[in-house]
Amino acid sequence: MSDELHHHTPDQAGLDAAAAELAAGGIVAIGNGLLTRVHGPDLCAGTSCWVHTPSTHGMNGWPVHWRQDKGTAERVCEHGIGHPDPDDTAFHARAGRDTTVHGCDGCCRR
Ligand SMILES: [Zn+2]
Ligand SMILES: [Zn+2]
Ligand SMILES: [Zn+2]
Repeated sequence: MSDELHHHTPDQAGLDAAAAELAAGGIVAIGNGLLTRVHGPDLCAGTSCWVHTPSTHGMNGWPVHWRQDKGTAERVCEHGIGHPDPDDTAFHARAGRDTTVHGCDGCCRR
């Protein structure tokens, strides 16, 4: 008697919800996966935002690494070092938080 194989089909409702959120702009593809529950563009209107309206800085082309522990967005340089995204630190600064401290190899100051 062989063990019966159980095929788990993806939860269609979950997929539909994810697709709907993606269409609404709630999910952003980043360097370390998919970031969900992203704020809507109406919440950052008029300010620079690393998701919706990135300012021109030298790290624009670098992959984004989301720091789940800190709730911040970092840009990863060619050496694998994460540097806080300037638009993200500006967002936190407006909320009274300093998120600029990081182990830096100097790339974000170039
Ligand atoms: Zn935004
Ligand atoms: Zn570097
Ligand atoms: Zn840095």
